[in-house]
Order: sequence, then C-alpha cells, then structure tokens
Amino acid sequence: DGKSKNKFQGIWRLSKLGVPVSKDPGKDFLGVSDGLLEAIAKVLEFPVAAMLPSEAFTVVRKSFDARKMLKDPKFVYIVDMDVQKLVSLEPRTEDFITMLEPRVGMVEHMPHTKISEDLISVINDCKKTAEGTVSRASGSKIYSLSGGTNIYPTAPKPRIAVVGSGPSGLFAALVLAELGANVTLIERGQPVEQRGRDIGALVVRRILQMESNFCFGEGGAGTWSDGKLVTRIGRNSDSVMAVLKTLVHFGAPKGILVNGKPHLGTDKLIPLLRNFRQHLQDLGVTIKFGKRVDDLLVEDAQVVGVKVSDSINSLQSNSQKWGYDAVVLAVGHSARDIYEMLLSHNMHLISKDFAVGLRIEHPQEVINRIQYSGVATEVRNGRGKVPVADYKLVKYISGEDGDAHVGAMDRSCYSFCMCPGGQVVLTSTNPSEICINGMSFSRRASKWANAALVVNVSTEDFGSLNFHGPLAGVEFQREFERRAAIMGGGNFVVPVQTVTDFLDNKLSVTSVPPSSYRLGVKAAYLNELYTTHITQALKHSISMFDKELPGFISKEALLHGVETRTSSPVQIPRSIHTYESTSLKGLYPVGEGAGYAGGIVSAAVDGMYAGFAVARSFELCHDGV
Ligand code: FAD
Repeated sequence: DGKSKNKFQGIWRLSKLGVPVSKDPGKDFLGVSDGLLEAIAKVLEFPVAAMLPSEAFTVVRKSFDARKMLKDPKFVYIVDMDVQKLVSLEPRTEDFITMLEPRVGMVEHMPHTKISEDLISVINDCKKTAEGTVSRASGSKIYSLSGGTNIYPTAPKPRIAVVGSGPSGLFAALVLAELGANVTLIERGQPVEQRGRDIGALVVRRILQMESNFCFGEGGAGTWSDGKLVTRIGRNSDSVMAVLKTLVHFGAPKGILVNGKPHLGTDKLIPLLRNFRQHLQDLGVTIKFGKRVDDLLVEDAQVVGVKVSDSINSLQSNSQKWGYDAVVLAVGHSARDIYEMLLSHNMHLISKDFAVGLRIEHPQEVINRIQYSGVATEVRNGRGKVPVADYKLVKYISGEDGDAHVGAMDRSCYSFCMCPGGQVVLTSTNPSEICINGMSFSRRASKWANAALVVNVSTEDFGSLNFHGPLAGVEFQREFERRAAIMGGGNFVVPVQTVTDFLDNKLSVTSVPPSSYRLGVKAAYLNELYTTHITQALKHSISMFDKELPGFISKEALLHGVETRTSSPVQIPRSIHTYESTSLKGLYPVGEGAGYAGGIVSAAVDGMYAGFAVARSFELCHDGV
C-alpha cells in the first residue's frame, strides 16, 4: 500500500546505536564497522548483520559515551540509511523495512532529505541561477535561504572594509567577496607564518609583540587554540553545517562533520587559514596585514571609511585614510582600544555580563582515570581507540540559599574551554596584564588537561569596584589581569596555587606541581585575587565538581590566574535584520567583540549572516536571502 511504499523513499535516520569499545575500530574510524552493522541489524530486527550492505549506511555522528552508570563505555552513532540502496543491494531486507516503524529520537523517516552544502557552492549555485545557466535546487534552508540569491552587479561594486580576520571577519569577507563586493580585509596582526614566529618568540624569549600574539593576527583569537568546534547554537543547524563544510572545503578533516565533539587543533588550523587566504585573494579581496584601524571616518552620521596605521611601526606617524561604502567591524573582544574609539563617536555601547575565574590543570591521566575507569588505558596519548577524556561541569549557586559568602546574587559556576591534552597559554595583549587560556594540537597528546573554572559576573560586581558605564566590564577584567601580573612578579610569570591550598587559603610553597605553562609559574594567594563573592563561589563550585568527578580536588591540580576573557564585556547594539549599528550608519559590528558570538563557530556564523545582510543592503542579493 501507499504507506509502506513511502517507507522505501528517502532516508531513515537511526540514532542511539551503541557499539562497545571492544567491537569498534576506534575514535578515528568514521565508516561502517561490523560492530555498527550489528547495532543496525538489531534496530531493523534483521537476523544476520553480516548480510547488511555497509554502502547503504552513512555515519552522521559518532560520539563516545563513558558515563559512570554504563557498565561498558561505548561509541554512540547516528546513521542515515538509504533504503532504496539497501533493498537493491540486499533484497531480503525488504520485508524488514516494510515492518519498520518510526520511534521518536531513535528511528526517524526523512522522505525528502537534502544534504546541506558548503557556503561557497551555495553561493556559486546562486550566481549561476542569476545568470540563468543553472537552476538552483529549491527547498534549501541554508542561512534560512528560501530560494536562490540573485546577483545584479549593474551598479559599481560597493567597497567594503572588513576589520579583523578572526572567524567572523573571514566569513563576512568570504560571503561579500563571493557575492561581488570589492572587499578589503584589514588585520592589525600578521599572517599565520609570521604570527607563528612571533608566538614562538613570546613562548621562548618572553617577547610580547603587542600586535601579533595569541589574540591578534590572521585567524583571530581562535588560531593558536584548541580549535573546538562545538557550539551552543545547534550542532545540526544549516548555518553551523555550512560553516563546518566550508572549513572542510579549506582543508579541515571531514571528521569534523561527523564527530560528536569536533575539534581541529592549532596544527590543522594554520594550513586551513592559508587556504582560506588564498581563496579570498583569488576572489580579488585585498588583504592588509599589520594595519590597525585606529578610527572611523564619519560624515553626516555615516561611516565613510577608516583611519589606519602601520601596527608594527606604531611609533612613526603613518596614519592613512581609506574610504569605504561600509565597514564591518569584526575585531574580537581583546581590541579594547576600539571600544574607546567607538565611545568617542558617541556610539551606544552596553556593558554585558560575562564570567571570570581561574584555569585549572590536572595531569591528563588523572582525568582519563576519573572519566573512563575501565578504558583509561585505551587513550594512549591521543593515539588510542578512545578520545582523550574531557569534562564539562556546571553548578548553579542560588544567592537565596542563604550562603552569605557568595553574596545575594545567583551565580553560575562552570568549566569553560576545556582543553584535553593541551597547554596553558598567555593571551595578554599588554605586558602589564596577565590573562591565560588553553590550546592544543590535533592529537591532544600533551600530558595535561586544562580548563577554565569561571563564575558569571555582572554590573553589580563591576560597581563593587567602582567601575561604571559601558566599559565597566573591561575595567573589571583589566583590574584582575593587573593583579595577576603583580602576583606573578612580572615577566609573564603566572600566579598559581594548588586546588587544595586554594580551598585552605594556603600558599603552595613546597608543593607546586609541574605546569604546561611555558613562561614560569609562581606560588601565590589566588584565593585573595578576586572579590570574596567570586572566590567563595569558585570554592563552593569546586567542592561540588569533586562530587561529580571524584578526584577532581587533588594536590596535583594546579589553579592558574587569571581567566577573564571568556566572552565580550560589551555589546554594540545593531539592527536584528540589517546588522547595521543602531547609532552609526554604515557600520556593521559582528562577532564576539560586538557581543553576538562566543567561540569559533558562532563567530563564523555571525560573520556569515552579517555578510549576507551587508550584501542585501547593497543589492548584491535580494531580500529573500
Ligand atoms: P577574533 O577571533 O578575536 O578576531 C578579531 C581579529 O580582529 C583579530 O585577528 C585582531 O587582530 C583583529 N583586530 C582587532 N582590532 C583591530 C583593529 N583595530 N584593526 C585591525 N584589526 C583588528 N573558541 C572555540 O570555539 N573553541 C576553542 O577551542 C577556542 N579556544 C580558544 C583558545 C584561545 C587561546 C583563545 C584566545 C580563544 C579561544 N576560543 C575558542 C575563542 C575564539 O577564538 C573566539 O571566540 C573567536 O575567535 C572570536 O572570533 P571573532 O572573529 O569574533 O574575533
């Protein structure tokens, strides 16, 4: 009948397919193994797994589940089953498909599934549509597109400056250039090749280049990072998939599309960025490295260009004025000078909540043991069958619970930017301030596991230190970064305290365990660095984290100060639809620094949408986009 005929169309998505570690080829294998066929056979109630043709199945997601309540840790798969292929390759499956019924979250029928494409092919498709050569497949929902874009480049090309080459700036530049704008990408830092040398000089010789470091330079803050590509904005949304597929287009391993916790690592990010740069240049984008935007040129309340100077030779007076029709501001949240500059134009900025805390580091094998018990030996420094163990911790502390120490405010305390097999790095952009973060390489093979432990802070906290106004949060960050630098004693030495001593308010004099941080650590009273409410909230949450991960509190766990730049302390208001600043025409604030993203993927998605919005305003694509 019609109902069962329908079952033979499109794709069936099979979820929660568990394969024990012993039956799985391991974390790096993304194909269809015999173990997976067994799990599929169980769902289909097909008696002989070995008879199922693996070609009919595509792995959509692979995660590792080692939760304590499970007897056996396992890989968990989501698989797409092409029924037509299945039945044509193995006709004996036909009866079983006829009997197959949907089960919510486990077995779902998607008769009209269309695989989403990468950004560049979508735009190219659209261009061809406009030229009338190729008709674009209808129904695509990437970036909420409901049809093809139209390119009508009759007017002269608009000149657009994109300031900042982090993920948001790169994706904005890509969309605009693909759609035919005349784009100049302006970056205060250096291309990855030179930036790598500058970071080397910092780590080995303690020379901090103010304009080329862990925050500034090609690829933005996320280049010398862990390269985690997880995001809270919906792993499977079309926009996230478009970003991930575009990264694959530029050389990221295909596994990021499938891996439950995709990550790249610095070694993979660097060549990817080179390919991204080459592509932009092939499209005609002018890329200016080592040029810092110091000011906006404004006429009749409209941005008409930027004032730039040579960021490497900043002592010389070398500023130049460059005219543009619009400016996309994608400067990240470490460009504090830009916030000051925007205020000088009477722009409306809003102080935003964020989170501050300390970075904790354990030996990686301690985290492997806590998380995996039975299969900890399978990690083998990132070369084994199971992924290097990570963790994610969140506790909510209510001010109303009557714990006077944490203050009247409700606080969320959580682990942030956890880097398994990584290292602690210096992300200061000024030698009198210390702030840190974590990075790793793709194998995650180091001996250490680090993560920020942070507590949310708001205007009440800023006010308690007498910081008010739109940049109160920036001042608050700076205050603790300076205190950390003083506690470390200078020369980028980071103040540390073991977690046990932090809880007992003791200096870790004789007991400082080794750290992955390369520029030296010094025992300090980190328990005295923050305000009492923040410190107490941290202590409280650490004790609770230890209940969840017994062994988390240990003499081997070293707290490093400080982690202050978790997300932007400022928001630059903009229109929801046009992405244009609400207080200055022609300016498009995007990404993390503008307060609209947190992390590599969400910044890229924001830049992509902003690119389309700017393109729309110059009629490079039509309103349906
Ligand atoms: P940014 O990446 O900050 O880029 C802004 C760019 O603008 C910079 O290149 C800067 O040099 C340039 N710029 C600033 N001012 C000017 C100016 N005046 N003129 C010209 N150019 C200017 N996120 C994750 O999702 N996963 C991770 O694993 C991860 N790890 C991280 C590790 C580290 C060490 C750090 C520092 C960050 C990490 N993050 C991670 C956060 C992530 O990097 C950011 O969220 C993301 O890069 C923000 O993108 P963006 O484009 O908004 O800004």
